[in-house]
Amino acid sequence: MIIPVRCFTCGSVIANKWEQYESQVNQGKSEKDVLDELNVHKYCCRRMFLSNVTTIDKLIEYSNLPKDKRITIKQRTQSTFNRTT
Ligand SMILES: [Zn+2]
Repeated sequence: MIIPVRCFTCGSVIANKWEQYESQVNQGKSEKDVLDELNVHKYCCRRMFLSNVTTIDKLIEYSNLPKDKRITIKQRTQSTFNRTT
């Protein structure tokens, strides 16, 4: 659904690396290279990235909110990054 904050096995914080991992993989880089660059070397942590399936945007379709008020995680993330302070 959403990447867990910590690895289930060793407890290392992994959620802070998810957006960089996802964007680089979507650009066509291999998962291995991206995880190596992010210093995710333990296999327990690597499986957290490799096995994660983002389903939150599919679940939002079943929300009680009207369609014009629904926002996908991608839209929310983009609006967070585009914010100027
Ligand atoms: Zn781990």
